[in-house]
Amino acid sequence: MVIFSVRRLMSMMEKKLRSSSSSPSLPEKLQSLEIAARLRIDSDSINMASTDFGKLNRVIPAAVLYPLSEVDIVNLIRSSYASSSPFSIAARGHGHSVCGQAMAQDGVVVDMRSLNGLSGRINLNLCGLASYVDVGGEQLWIDVLNATLEHGVAPKSWTDYLYLTVGGTLSNAGISGQSFRHGPQITNVYEMDVVTGRGEVVTCSRDLNSELFYGVLGGFGQFGIITRARIALEPAPSRVKWVRMLYLDFSAFTKDQENLITFNGGDQAGKKKNKGLDYVEGSLVMSQSPANNWRSSFFSHTDHSKITSLATKHGILYCLEVAKYYDHLSVDTVDRELEMLLRGLSFIPGFIFAKDVSYIDFLDRVRRGELELRSKGLSDIPHPWLNLFVPKSQILDFDAGVFKGILQQSPNASGPILVYPMIKSKWDDKMSAVTPDEDIFYSVGLLRSSSLSGSEVHGLELVNQNRKIMEFCEEVGIKVKQYLPNYRTREEWMNHFGPKWDLFKERKNKFDPLAILSPGQRIFNF
Ligand code: FAD
Repeated sequence: MVIFSVRRLMSMMEKKLRSSSSSPSLPEKLQSLEIAARLRIDSDSINMASTDFGKLNRVIPAAVLYPLSEVDIVNLIRSSYASSSPFSIAARGHGHSVCGQAMAQDGVVVDMRSLNGLSGRINLNLCGLASYVDVGGEQLWIDVLNATLEHGVAPKSWTDYLYLTVGGTLSNAGISGQSFRHGPQITNVYEMDVVTGRGEVVTCSRDLNSELFYGVLGGFGQFGIITRARIALEPAPSRVKWVRMLYLDFSAFTKDQENLITFNGGDQAGKKKNKGLDYVEGSLVMSQSPANNWRSSFFSHTDHSKITSLATKHGILYCLEVAKYYDHLSVDTVDRELEMLLRGLSFIPGFIFAKDVSYIDFLDRVRRGELELRSKGLSDIPHPWLNLFVPKSQILDFDAGVFKGILQQSPNASGPILVYPMIKSKWDDKMSAVTPDEDIFYSVGLLRSSSLSGSEVHGLELVNQNRKIMEFCEEVGIKVKQYLPNYRTREEWMNHFGPKWDLFKERKNKFDPLAILSPGQRIFNF
């Protein structure tokens, strides 16, 4: 991927758009398509499809498809598949990738959200423990949440931020503080409809066309476009006890996190079993990553000042964040159970903070901050985020070398830095998603952005620093895997997949032999 400065990008973009507006017709290869009427090349469409949340690169497509049905997507893919010069096609969910993963150079970007207006794209089936919801791949998780809550149920596994599409997160994994308990979102899917790279519509599940099912989940959009996913549901709680605790010592912090995620009910002779926590995450508190940030403003002004002065004194603090859900049936026991779970943790005495919020406010906690960022124009600056999975046995080395080392060298960066553990057995290794080879591994999210002034320079600085972090891990032998990966070479992808590479390639040959789909991932298209 070529990373340009933002200003240079804008001027290249304007030139390209000027040339496209002087000849406002579809490229020849697309003019004869059956769905030509739903292809657009106006500057708004091209602009939308050639950028994403990362604001790091622009890739200009030939056109954007606004499908009115699954059939439009089928027709588009079939046209490319049958063509003597196939064009690339990328589904675009909500465009919240950071490195152009949903873009298609000179190809067609499918604006999945245009299916959202159709009726019947969220359908519930309530049948006790086997309840599920069928949702269009274009649906936002917030809409899935709202629709299911109306019936007292909800999906089990979430992302921190809900304005992402079902197809977009299932193409990666979909992780958050519930993953230790329910697995990532991809392990909570029963069935999907997928339009493959051959233009065939295939219903798949663990038992039916399982090769496609396992391939698509965590498959970076390489095998097909998800048009429907059947998601597992559970009874929805109504409220959440939400607690944060501060630590000075990283080793004590991770030990507590690991104990909490592996808690198995404890010794409860004669009493109802304590099911443990519903959510466990963690984050760093340092000058570039204050306790309150756009991702969450949890602390009161007074508590925030107290925490900031402690962080300034020590350079870095670690914040353990947990939640326990409850409803009218458990309202009388939740405090006792929570107290039992938190007893004996090694946080700094006095530095524990609690809130009691509605379930929807808890799950939708990141939205308010994001809207604030947007209102200040801060969502338009580069976001060179880096997400990694780090094996448990090497997380202390990662802390020493990266958190306490490399990160201190970027005073101009700011943003949340997340660190929390997950359990490998909750993932399904038959799926395309890749995790480290240890029972427990950590998700580390460096969600930093450049500061607004001179953002071009700082964006590149952060990109370089991310590279330094990867080099450091390589040098000292920390076996990290990138989550939401951004690789440049085939060799890096082969390394990423390790023993799964041959299977991934085989599946690509089977379901998208012409490598039409999701070229922006740069796995088979460079
Ligand atoms: P897009 O960026 O539009 O697409 C991503 C990829 O999926 C592309 O390759 C695209 O071609 C493909 N794709 C899109 N739709 C389909 C489809 N229907 N079928 C097949 N392929 C498809 N991730 C987490 O796991 N947990 C988090 O808590 C989390 N929080 C985030 C918060 C923010 C503010 C942002 C910007 C990102 C966050 N992410 C998180 C990352 C996010 O899950 C991924 O970037 C995801 O791909 C974004 O979804 P999208 O709908 O915007 O997908």
